[in-house]
Amino acid sequence: MDFTPTYHERNLENIAQLGDNTKDKAIEWYQYLIENKIDILIYETIRSEATQKANFAKGASQTMKSYHIVGQALDFVPVDGKTTLWNGYGSAEAKKAISYAKKLGFEWGGDWSSFVDKPHLEYAYKGYGTDTFKTKGNKITLVTKKATTVKTETKTETKKTTYTLPTGTYKKGSKGTAVKQIQEALNKLYFKCGTADGIWGAKTEDALRRFQSVHCNPVDGIYGKNTRAAMLKQLNK
Ligand SMILES: [Zn+2]
Repeated sequence: MDFTPTYHERNLENIAQLGDNTKDKAIEWYQYLIENKIDILIYETIRSEATQKANFAKGASQTMKSYHIVGQALDFVPVDGKTTLWNGYGSAEAKKAISYAKKLGFEWGGDWSSFVDKPHLEYAYKGYGTDTFKTKGNKITLVTKKATTVKTETKTETKKTTYTLPTGTYKKGSKGTAVKQIQEALNKLYFKCGTADGIWGAKTEDALRRFQSVHCNPVDGIYGKNTRAAMLKQLNK
């Protein structure tokens, strides 16, 4: 990693406490922040019912049905070195972070009208309390581009792999080996689209749009010349 967040270890420990699906999204988000050198502290994720009761009692929280209790929420604050920027949610960087979180499906407490909660991001998944905890507390390994390259190099031992991608245009409804290759590339770049099954559905389109919104134009969900070039650039970095 070219950039390591100030509170990296603490951030990873907190993310590790989340429910499985929320955690996947949080990792994807955090990965994006690192790639864009946006420094934050994730200071709380899961919360006990006792803590929530206390927060509720002192007015810091409006509900006992907090997404924190069920491992589907995290609280973060922008930081500059060790300084926490509690008024920093309006900065260009923070806005970028929040907008990407929303793209991933998080709801931001800063958008709420009755009780504005700027540090808060929650992931509904299939509804309140629906996330699972099979991997809770497991150590998180971030799939950085560097790590991907190292892995490939170990496998081939002598020469560095140069990635290739199909030419042509692919979009929702496309099928086949080429689509599978694109899906594998998206997953490798951490724009997750689920299992690479060679069928271009909603998940693949969403992942491609997210990739485009970071790396190329236009953001149209269609794989063509520009997207191919941008993906190759990232893969062969
Ligand atoms: Zn919160």
